[in-house]
Amino acid sequence: MEQQKQDAAEDVVIVGAGLAGVGVALGLHRKGVRSVVLESSPALRTSGFAFMTWTNAFRALDALGVGDKMRSHHLQVQGGPHEARCVQRNVLLQALEEELPAGTIRYNSRIVSIDDDKEKDGGGDAKILHLADGSTLRAKVLIGCDGINSVVARWLGLAKPLDSGRRATRGHAKYSDGHGFQPKFMQLSGNGFRAGLVPCGDTDVYWFLTWSPSCPDGKEDVDQSPAEMKQFVLAKLRSIMAPDEVLDAVERSEMNDVLVAPLRAQVVAASYMVGRVQQSEHAVVRFARDRLLSGVLAKGLLMMPDYDCGTL
Ligand SMILES: Cc1cc2nc3c(=O)[nH]c(=O)nc-3n(C[C@H](O)[C@H](O)[C@H](O)COP(=O)(O)OP(=O)(O)OC[C@H]3O[C@@H](n4cnc5c(N)ncnc54)[C@H](O)[C@@H]3O)c2cc1C
Repeated sequence: MEQQKQDAAEDVVIVGAGLAGVGVALGLHRKGVRSVVLESSPALRTSGFAFMTWTNAFRALDALGVGDKMRSHHLQVQGGPHEARCVQRNVLLQALEEELPAGTIRYNSRIVSIDDDKEKDGGGDAKILHLADGSTLRAKVLIGCDGINSVVARWLGLAKPLDSGRRATRGHAKYSDGHGFQPKFMQLSGNGFRAGLVPCGDTDVYWFLTWSPSCPDGKEDVDQSPAEMKQFVLAKLRSIMAPDEVLDAVERSEMNDVLVAPLRAQVVAASYMVGRVQQSEHAVVRFARDRLLSGVLAKGLLMMPDYDCGTL
């Protein structure tokens, strides 16, 4: 029994094998720290297809040792002083995973709840992670990278994600003989919506459309089928006379290459901003912080009877 308990223990456990989780695991590995990543899915999840990266992202990717690999797969987007590329999620996730020791990511491992370790034998503040298959794992260090519906964030008592009020759909078009687009970020906008198209490599193009449900014909419901969503995007693009090649990119996207989602954010971003404000030496920020915020806002917060930052 004691042996079993020892076996189900790890020093560092990361929950979630998205870009954050796999990136953290690789960063730790580069520093000689072993970790285990628990991922609920049976394989790396690549929904979202691609995303824009700028200079800072490539600084991080260089530090992780995968920057040049990403450069070789993705065109540099022209215009502007920064190194900008539209990076495909599957290419980046695979590159990160390949650099990790075999077995670092444990698939089909969904965390359902977390407890403090009552015994705390030698583990200090160790946590007990309960998995969906009924097993448990003891972790000395727990790192939550489990996305917008994070079990770890809920356990920490962080606020629920906020709905930005906007909706987004994204797609991915493949051109086996090359797409012919210039390596530029093409942006289009209309009444209450914004769209963009950017080539990733020579044969892949990423596009998106974000809109407010209150815009003319805006769709509140994000459970639309990909086919309906494609028609919605095409109608929006036609309404602003978008170029034919943009319409073609949307039309040729496979149904499983179209994704619809509300845009949501974790309030942890607000905590980050608060930290930046607290530490800033910028004259304007200092004035606002010391003269305005500390006087007015702090008094207001202290008057709130249930104000509690103990769990942050
Ligand atoms: C400024 C900005 C711009 C963005 N632009 C784009 C864009 O252009 N295109 C785009 O697609 N996205 C975009 N995004 C969204 C961004 O890509 C996501 O924020 C990013 O993917 C989050 O990565 P993550 O690793 O934190 O979470 P995720 O990618 O959501 O990964 C979380 C992982 O945890 C796993 N998991 C969840 N719960 C559990 C559990 N209980 N147990 C075990 N595993 C679990 C999930 O299966 C998943 O693999 C943008 C975001 C920002 C902030």
